[in-house]
Amino acid sequence: MLFSAVRKLRGGYSMFRSMLRCSGIFFMWCLVGVIATVSAFAQTTVIRAGHVIDPATGQASGAQTIIVKDGKIVSVGVGLKLPAGARVVDLSSDWVMPGLMDAHTHLTLDIAPADAPNDLSALYLREGTGLRALRGMWHAQQELEAGFTTVRDLGNSANHADTDIRVAIERGWFPGPTVVNSGKIISPFGGQSHGIPAEQARPWLWEYSDADGPDEVRKAVRENIFYGAKVIKLVVDNAAYVYSEEEIRAAVTEAHRAGLPVAVHVFGGPGADNAIAAGVDSIEHGFELSDAQLEAMKKKGIFLVGTDTPRAQLDAIGTAGGIFPEPETNARNILDRLKRAQRIGVKMAFGTDAASVLPGVTRGRMAFDYLEVWTAAGVPAPKILQCMTTNAAELLRVQKDRGEIVAGKYADIIATADNPLENIQALQKIIFVMKEGKVIPLPKVDQP
Ligand SMILES: [Zn+2]
Repeated sequence: MLFSAVRKLRGGYSMFRSMLRCSGIFFMWCLVGVIATVSAFAQTTVIRAGHVIDPATGQASGAQTIIVKDGKIVSVGVGLKLPAGARVVDLSSDWVMPGLMDAHTHLTLDIAPADAPNDLSALYLREGTGLRALRGMWHAQQELEAGFTTVRDLGNSANHADTDIRVAIERGWFPGPTVVNSGKIISPFGGQSHGIPAEQARPWLWEYSDADGPDEVRKAVRENIFYGAKVIKLVVDNAAYVYSEEEIRAAVTEAHRAGLPVAVHVFGGPGADNAIAAGVDSIEHGFELSDAQLEAMKKKGIFLVGTDTPRAQLDAIGTAGGIFPEPETNARNILDRLKRAQRIGVKMAFGTDAASVLPGVTRGRMAFDYLEVWTAAGVPAPKILQCMTTNAAELLRVQKDRGEIVAGKYADIIATADNPLENIQALQKIIFVMKEGKVIPLPKVDQP
């Protein structure tokens, strides 16, 4: 139905014939010339788009041509002259939009089903950083194939495996989404582990930094920056005590000085008050935020990344060793809070927190199950798409380069057969993914 035609490079056959006329060293020069010519051709792609969506405005423009060269969008418009030798992707019946963003992933993490021992600490004893990095790359590729061209990975990544994944993708060793990673999670003593006797070592230190008091928090931020973090993540209210405003402010000041945003795990209550007062960039989860707290976030421009998890995934993950409330309570809180956040108008970015294991479902596909919750909470389809693109780009601080289909930005582009501005479920059928100008082959069947 769609990219019926990624068409063959024009002129390839005549180049082949001229190559046959060459001999000896001259042949080699011809060959070099042919390779250079082919790679130059391969760098320019033209997308014929039925409709191009601008998520910032919720509007679509018809019959557009997008010219992509060297990984970036060169021009977008009606009736543009096609560069010679460009390959053409025919999406002339389809809806084309910027790649999606998931602002809260845990690429290297799989939390065992609810009927197994599922405290995070158990993971540290079973799997090393190498295996976690491989799983992370596997999940990263699933995200990309599902249309998520950028992800923000918020910790639980063994010993900085998230940095390794980011660097390997940036070096071009593997196809994958742009990764904005947090390194170790900075937390009050004990990370998110619970009930570990004092005689034992502190296994959580593998992926958490114990940091108490502003000075330790500052040092933990600096350590993460040293090891390659692009965002700072704090757990504010999942330990025996919550971080104070002063401690959170130390992280915010230090991270902002280095140009990095601060994301905090907090459900609500005094921890959320402290985080809002300290001026964090985003509150993650926030399942129990009050209306007054949501109002305060709106006033200060603090994002909510609500990780609005669908019931099937809540059931699969259980309480994750005491991190989450019972699934039924959690599902009720999530829906209620998302409704209130939408009504109050707090800035939101789409983020999943997906870490459960659903047999037969890829990590990328799991993300689309969240759309049901957003729709149930009454968030209109254009706004959901905005939260998955332009809003997320702003929070992730990648908006200069990504999140829109305009000249000068990276060609992170996806397409659907149906219009997601009318029905957000159209995203369930992504028919085309381009990452920085490269067309990503999509699997016919999901292989989790
Ligand atoms: Zn999370």
